[in-house]
Amino acid sequence: MSRSKFLDMGALPHFWCEGCGNGIVLGAIVRALENAGADPEKTVVVTGIGCTGKLDDYVACHTVHGTHGRALPIATGIKAANPDLTVLAVLGDGDGATIGGNHLLHSARRNIGVTAVLINNFNYGMTGGQYSGTTPQGSRTATSVYGNPEPAMDLCRVAEAAGASYVARSTVYHGVQLQRFIEQGLSKDGFSFIEAVSTCPTYFGRLNQLPSPVDMLMSLKDRAVPRGSGGSGEAGTPGIEGKFEIGVFADKGLDGFSARYAEVQTAAVARAQARPVVAGQAQAKASGKGHWEIVLAGFGGQGLGLAGQLLGEAAVEIDGRYASQVQAYGSAARGGFAKSETIVSSDEIKYPGVTRPNLVVALSEEAYRRYAGRVGEGCLVIVDSAVVADAVPGVQAYPISEMAERAGQPQSANLVALGLLAAISGAVSPQALEESIRRRLPGNRGALDAFRSGFGLAEGPAC
Ligand code: SF4
Repeated sequence: MSRSKFLDMGALPHFWCEGCGNGIVLGAIVRALENAGADPEKTVVVTGIGCTGKLDDYVACHTVHGTHGRALPIATGIKAANPDLTVLAVLGDGDGATIGGNHLLHSARRNIGVTAVLINNFNYGMTGGQYSGTTPQGSRTATSVYGNPEPAMDLCRVAEAAGASYVARSTVYHGVQLQRFIEQGLSKDGFSFIEAVSTCPTYFGRLNQLPSPVDMLMSLKDRAVPRGSGGSGEAGTPGIEGKFEIGVFADKGLDGFSARYAEVQTAAVARAQARPVVAGQAQAKASGKGHWEIVLAGFGGQGLGLAGQLLGEAAVEIDGRYASQVQAYGSAARGGFAKSETIVSSDEIKYPGVTRPNLVVALSEEAYRRYAGRVGEGCLVIVDSAVVADAVPGVQAYPISEMAERAGQPQSANLVALGLLAAISGAVSPQALEESIRRRLPGNRGALDAFRSGFGLAEGPAC
């Protein structure tokens, strides 16, 4: 068998125990990638944590070594942002089906174009052989020394029921078949799930009367029956007793997420292009400030997230600029520290987190303490004069909450702040923001009044 260009020979020898099935799965993966015509420059292998997580060390393409159980969300993000890439996630049973079981369900439901290969060796190998969601009932592990009382999950049936486009199971005894299933999975548009039933002689085999790699392989050979064959009628989940099925469980040929996402994206772009671009973009360019990183900070319940979203929507949908918005709350949610970060830019935004704010609006004393005097040069900090008596030099105080009360909208300090920052920054045009408020809060005249009063505040001196 020829060597695949996807195998990084320089990284060998591998770290797995003698007789571990992971090496067979690695061989099947690299050959499948090669046979499927994948380009190493356009292929990403994503792993989680555990013995299987080491697999990314041995492949010659782009890799991401993620956190425990999180390979699929990472792979989803990569595929959603770069639909042209080949994205393959390698999971363990403790990693991808137990800690990360929720992600498996939703990757299948979403039917994103990722190929997931889950190596099921019935236990958490790397951490000492604890039982996982696929440990066969009655078998022994480091944490089920009297026999696991729980039934094992049938991962293929779960993935199929959740909506995966392609689902198949093979074993490390059936390496050629396993490779063929991975190749088929790579050719599908939607989510492909391939379970590779594997061996962990070091922990699982030793505790279950299968001490040698050969014993474990022969057990897989004896128990696996082809789907639809005479013996498959009584087959159950993979394990050390009874039969289990190998073969293709689902091949639905469904449209994947990428195709559906592309439709939504095309419609959104067409809608945005159909709208006239108003003043914001030209204004920002004229002022030489094409990139704004804006923080609205205060406490939960002040509507900071809404204000940030209004800002972002106005920038994207009306001014025709790029924007991102994220928000964070403390564990207390309402009443605790909260912030909304919005980036508005003339250029594509690669990372949505604010790293160098140009403008911070603090609506609580805690927010003021967190930012005043702690931001980089060139960042303007604005504070509500009601929350701090003497602002430090360089911080501008405005009667934000007082204006909201005067407008008869005491809960609208967020919109007053929005008007103020729009006037001061020019990041987004006031027309776009007013339109954005009208759409989000139809018929709420007070909201527009609050926004306009904030805009007018910028014409007077700070306190
Ligand atoms: S502990 Fe088990 S799964 Fe991990 S490398 Fe050794 S045999 Fe493989």
